[in-house]
Amino acid sequence: MKMRDVPKELQILRILRPRMNFTEDEESYYQYKEKGYEGEVTFDKWAEPLKDMIFLNDINLNTNNNHFQNDSLGISAGTLHIFEVKNFAGDYTIDKEGKWHSPKGNIVKNPHLQLEKAETLMNQLVKNMGWRINVEPHLVFVHPEFHLYNVPAHLPIIYPTQLVRFREKLLERCSKPTRSEVQLGDRLLSLLIEEMPYTSVPDYTYDRLRKGIVCKGCGVFYGSFHKTFQCGFCGGRESCSEAVIRSINEFKMLFSDNKVTTARIHDWCNVVKDERTIRRVLNENFELKGFAKSAFYF
Ligand SMILES: [Zn+2]
Repeated sequence: MKMRDVPKELQILRILRPRMNFTEDEESYYQYKEKGYEGEVTFDKWAEPLKDMIFLNDINLNTNNNHFQNDSLGISAGTLHIFEVKNFAGDYTIDKEGKWHSPKGNIVKNPHLQLEKAETLMNQLVKNMGWRINVEPHLVFVHPEFHLYNVPAHLPIIYPTQLVRFREKLLERCSKPTRSEVQLGDRLLSLLIEEMPYTSVPDYTYDRLRKGIVCKGCGVFYGSFHKTFQCGFCGGRESCSEAVIRSINEFKMLFSDNKVTTARIHDWCNVVKDERTIRRVLNENFELKGFAKSAFYF
C-alpha cells in the first residue's frame, strides 16, 4: 500500500557528502543512516513472498502529539504486524539494567523500547479509529553477522537465522485482510505526515558547497564534458541531459527556497562551460515561469 522511498534525510546526506567535508561524527551518522536503509531494503526483499499481507512502509504518524515512526506495518486477517527492522552487525549485549551495548561498548537506543512504544501508540490509534485488530510487534534483525547476548526470554526477536522459518510461519498463519482491514490500511495511509525535520543534517550553504556534477555510479566529480559525461574514475557514461537533470534535482532538494535559473544551474553544474547547454536542458525538461530577469524554472 505504501512503497519505501529513500528517506529524504538520506537523500540530502548523499548529495552533500561529496560536496563538503563531513566531520567524523557526520560521517558516522551518514553511515548509520545508509546501513539502516540497506536493512530495510533487505527486509522488503524478505517480505516479498508474503502476498496476503498489506504493507505500509516507512511510516510517520502523529497520534495525540506523539510522533510515531515505523519501518514496516503489515496487515493480514485479524492482525496488524509492527516490524521494527534493525541492520545491526556484530555482537551486541543487553546489560542488567536492560541497556543495549554495541560491539564497541557504546550504549545504543534500545530497539525493544522503540517497538513497545510503537505497539502502545498503534493500539491506541486503532482503537480510537474504531477498529478491533490484534497488534503484534516483531523486532527483526536482518544482518547475518548479528548476535545478541543476555536476552530476556520475552522479547519478540527474530534473528537472521530464523528469518526463513519466521516467514514460513507467517505464510501458514496469515490470510488476506478483510475489506474492513483494507479500509484500516487506507485510513492509516490518510494520516501519514512528512518525515520528521532532519535536525541531524550538517549545516550547509550554497557558497560553501563544492560545485560540479557527480558521477551517478561512483560519486566522484566528472572532470570534463564533451557532449556526454565520462567518469575519469569508474569509466561510467551518462548523457548530458540525464546528468544535468539529476544535478538540478539535487539543487532543488538542497535549496527548495531558491529559484532555479539558468545562471544558477550553470554555476551549480560548473563542469558544463557553455550556458546554452544548461538553458536547453532546462527548456526541454522544466517549465519556465515569469519573464526576463525574474524568470525561473520549476
Ligand atoms: Zn564514476
